[in-house]
Amino acid sequence: MNTAVAVFPGSFDPLTAGHVDIVERALRIFERVIVAVLNNPEKTTLFTVDERLDLIEQQFRDYKGRVTAQSFSGLLVEFAKRVQAGVILRGLRAISDYDYEAQMALVNKNLCEDIETLFLTAREQNSYVSSSVVKQVAKLKGDVSSMVTPVVEAALKRKFKY
Ligand code: ADP
Repeated sequence: MNTAVAVFPGSFDPLTAGHVDIVERALRIFERVIVAVLNNPEKTTLFTVDERLDLIEQQFRDYKGRVTAQSFSGLLVEFAKRVQAGVILRGLRAISDYDYEAQMALVNKNLCEDIETLFLTAREQNSYVSSSVVKQVAKLKGDVSSMVTPVVEAALKRKFKY
């Protein structure tokens, strides 16, 4: 397993400024970050998996292959093994995120001893930012420019026609 490669899993529906910050800071530690978009047909999403992948690719185009996006379904550790990533990267916003995240990290550790989970804390200005808040505000045609990048803002405006 390659500890210079991290997978950053999530729904990314859509990618927020918080996600972007975690990826950019992770690039100081890792050679490559694979943003892994969960394909869960049971969950209703605003953006399709392909739209989410496309937004992530557009966002990180300038990193010349150091940030890539792939979808996955099934066990995250199996995906990580397939792409040879030694680290699972997650972001923590508040203590309230901790219980769930610690549980997932322990489950994944049990499933695969060779993969480590690493947490980066959200920046203060992103600590209230989530994909669901972004969707709620955008649906009401509110200003989301402090919570998403221009690429994602444009996509939200197209979706909600404003
Ligand atoms: P999930 O449904 O798996 O939590 P998300 O797309 O909501 O998927 O989040 C993916 C990852 O990004 C998670 O580790 C989450 O904690 C982290 N994250 C979400 N929002 C922020 C933020 N504002 N700042 C830092 N990390 C964040």
